[in-house]
This record gives sequence, structure tokens and C-alpha cells, in this order.
Amino acid sequence: MTKRPFTGNGLMAHAPGSLARLFRRDSKRVLYRGGPILTMDATNRVVESLLVEGDRIAAVGDGAELRDRADRKRRVVDLQGKALLPGFIDAHAHFPGAGIFAVLLDLNSPPIGDIDSVETIVERLRERAASTSKNDWIVGMGYDDTLLAERRHPTRADLDRASTGHPIAIWHISGHLAALNSAALERVGIDAKTPDSEGGRIRRDPRTGEPDGVLEENDTHVLQPLLAPGLRDSWKIVREASRRYLAAGVTTAQNGYATAQQMRGLLRLSRLGLLPLRVILWPGQETTDALLEGRFSFAPPDPLWIRQGAAKIIGDGSIQGYTGYLSAPYHVPPGDDPDYCGYPTIARGELIELVSRYHAKGLQVAVHGNGDACIDDILDAFEAAQRAHPRPDTRHVVIHAQMARDDQLDRMAELGVIPSFFSLHTYYWGDRHREIFMGPERAARMSPARSAMDRRLRFTIHTDAPVVPMEPLRLVWAAVNRRSSSGASIGEAERIPPVQALRAVSIDAAYQHFEERDKGSLEVGKLADMVILDRSPLDDPEHIDGIRVLETIVGGRTVYRA
Ligand SMILES: [Zn+2]
Repeated sequence: MTKRPFTGNGLMAHAPGSLARLFRRDSKRVLYRGGPILTMDATNRVVESLLVEGDRIAAVGDGAELRDRADRKRRVVDLQGKALLPGFIDAHAHFPGAGIFAVLLDLNSPPIGDIDSVETIVERLRERAASTSKNDWIVGMGYDDTLLAERRHPTRADLDRASTGHPIAIWHISGHLAALNSAALERVGIDAKTPDSEGGRIRRDPRTGEPDGVLEENDTHVLQPLLAPGLRDSWKIVREASRRYLAAGVTTAQNGYATAQQMRGLLRLSRLGLLPLRVILWPGQETTDALLEGRFSFAPPDPLWIRQGAAKIIGDGSIQGYTGYLSAPYHVPPGDDPDYCGYPTIARGELIELVSRYHAKGLQVAVHGNGDACIDDILDAFEAAQRAHPRPDTRHVVIHAQMARDDQLDRMAELGVIPSFFSLHTYYWGDRHREIFMGPERAARMSPARSAMDRRLRFTIHTDAPVVPMEPLRLVWAAVNRRSSSGASIGEAERIPPVQALRAVSIDAAYQHFEERDKGSLEVGKLADMVILDRSPLDDPEHIDGIRVLETIVGGRTVYRA
């Protein structure tokens, strides 16, 4: 085990408080004992005791007891049967997006929120309009057309009923579509004469050609500036997101499509000691290009607190938004075309060129792909890049890999590619994937974690927060049980054992981020990033979602207590 030297700078930046406190921390030893300690090491050892010195793990198991006997100047934490695990590592989400509802209107339907119809959306927007200055934007997020009584997207006509004096934009839960009112369409300059973008669509009234308010994929990019909030709002969002992550036991957060502005802002907060958890930022395409061309530089002083990860590319949309790119038609097509298969967000040739360029520069590349046709293109791109510029240990990632077929998992194994599954699909959308989008057969084998495991393919699982809440234990539960929110079983054959699901949010997620030397398991020399749960997730697999997070520890320091 190589132990990286820890820089004093980073430590001070993240231990706000006096110097005295810093010294106390440096000499701090804590012995945890009396609980199942799930190490997630190579053999999934469960031990009784663990010793922390400063911000690292000094001894595990019997060794900890021995070291403890030699030195009595330490604090003892008696776990009393509660479970100690590695802190959860976010394989893919959009930190600090989970804090967005500190400033945006929450339009989620049950089981996340309480929106049940287009009418309730209009009502909520009307309330918000009453307390918003004229001409200021009203922005909402999280509505889901398939969970609204009307079973459709809100249109400009609906949103105009909420207000004509405020521009209104609301995002679909997938993040791949948005609905705008007339004032917003005018503000962003979209009218009947505006052509669709490549990889996007402006939905229109079939008779007049006037936009109906709903924008898809690349046509939503005009709204990007709305997601770049001012400084005060940014801080509110980051504070709320950090609170939610730590309460859920997450010690490393991830942003799966970071802008230069976000990267700069989070680095500044980290330097000020205002980020209580570790963050990995995946630059989006524009940001990666800016980094490669030297127009933007990102040089964090301590990469174990904040660092740049894989270069992110978007390959298609989302299946529940009918924009995932499939090789066979959707079960119930969205319009009149029974052969509708969705579409790619980036042309195949362009994807291959882009992946090759990033790969040649030595970058790890992560591509978002839900539909299997898109995954074909992604794997072709990874293979072409590797053929042109062979490189060991690339760890390129297919984000979501939702409809990955068996032959594609075989190819991933061959290419050393990591699939990262959004396993909560079975819970939040399972019934609708079966009845509407995919049909029973394909729904049963979406997010195929068991098939990946059987191929000894290293995979991760993720929440994609704020798409759904950051709840790693519900995520683990979903991968283990594959039950929909109505209780239906969605593909029993793809269930995985609890320990495997836990590895996918700890050591394997660390591996995906090239951080397995420092994080992901409780082993000597690794960072003391840990979580205490009220009981072991190995004991009662069917009720993992009910387990409570009692304490979250980052670098040996308790940052959350229930
Ligand atoms: Zn995402």
C-alpha cells in the first residue's frame, strides 16, 4: 500500500477552526470497536475493530487491538453492534445539483414530491410568480409527464396560465427536456422560424409550426445560463447539497458534467474550507476543450479534496424522455411512428473523433449512453481510440449503460470499460419501463448488474442526483431487490448480492475514479472516510432502504451526526 503524503494546506483548508484544534487532530487516535466493520477489502473481511490516526486508518482487526494496547492515548468509540463501512463514493451525479431546490421550484411527483397534474404545476408556478419580481425568471425542475394525471408535458399554453409577465422554464426529471412559457420562448429567441438544433428538437403545433413550449436535448442548451446561479445562490445550493450528501453517508461527491464556472467556484469554496466533503469534477465537453487548449486551468492544491476526473461526453438522452437511442423501437411509441427508436445526441463519426482526441491526450473518458444503439457507438469509439493510441488501464466509463446487451458487456470486459448503472431506474420508473417504454422483456434486463458481475466486470451504481435524491442505501437496496415503487419485481435475474452492491458504491467507485489506493475500503493507510449505520446491510437485504445513517466521518473528522 503506497501512502501519499498529505499536504498541510489541504488539511487546514478543511478543518476550519483554530490551530490548536488542528494539532489535536494531528495527534488524534480513535479506536472503533464492538461492531461489524465491513472493510470491503479484497475478501470482504468483516472485523471487530479499527484504529484511526489523524486522517488515515492505522490498523484494522486484531492489529488494531494490538496497537491500541501499546498506546492508550486514544478515544474509544464503542459501536455497540452498529455497522462501520467505508464512506459512500458517488460514481455519478451532479453535485451540487441536489441542493438546487434551495433556490428552484421542486416539481417532483411521488414518491419524491407531491406534484400529480399539470394543474398543480400551474398552481405552484402561480404561487411562485406572486412572490417574484416582474420579468424575473421562474425556474422549476423535476416534473415527470408520465406521472401527471394528463400524461403529457406541460405546454406554453399551460405555463402562460401561471404567468405571462415572468419567463418560466421547467425541467423534466430526466434533465433532457424542458417546457417554457411564451415569455421564456421570446427571451431565448425561439419562434416558428427557428430551426431544430442538431441532436435536438423544438416541439411544435403541427398546423402552425409555432413552438408548443417543449424543447428536447440540444435545444435545451439555450437555458444553460439559468443553471449558472449567482454567488449567493451558489453557496446556498452547495450548503444544501453538502448537508444532504453527508446525511446520506456520502464522503466523496461527483459532478458528471461540470462547467468551468462550477469548477472554479467549487475550488474556491474548497480553499475557504467550506466544502465538508471530497469532490470529483468531470469536465463537460466545452470545459474539456478549454482545458486542453489552455483557455482554462484547474490546479487544485490537494487533489484528494477536489480534483478533475474523466472527460464527459453525452451520447444520447433518457429512455423515460423517449430520447434514449435504441436498436429496436420503443414498446409504446411516443407519436405515430411505430418504428421510433430515439436518436443519438452526437453523430457516430463525431463521437469517435472526440473520444479518440481525448483518449490520445491521456484522459479518462466517460460517455453517457442509455439505449443499446448508443452503447454500440460508444464502444466502437473506445475501441477505435484504443487501436489508434494503445494505452493500458484506461478505465473509460459508460454512464448509465441502461440497455446494455450481453454482447456489449462482453465487449466492455474485453476493453476494460466500466459500466456505471443508474440502478434506481427499477424503483422509480420500473413499472413504466415495463408497460410503456421498454416492454416486459427489456425492462427485466435493464441496468444488468448481475450479468456484469458474472463476467467479472467491475461496475458501479449511481443515483444521478438531482435526477432522484442522493440515497446510496436506497440505491444499494434497488440493485439487490429490483422492486418498483409499486412493489413489482423488475427482472429478478439481474439482482445482485448486498456485498456486491456495497462494493459498487465504495471500492469499485473508488476504482472508477482511479482512487482505490486512498479510498473505498477500510484498510491500513487509506483515508478514514467512513459511515456508521444503525445496522449491517448484510443482515436483512430486503430492508436495506430502511437503514439509518448515524454518523459520517471524512478524513477522521465527524462531519455529520444524526
Ligand atoms: Zn447524469
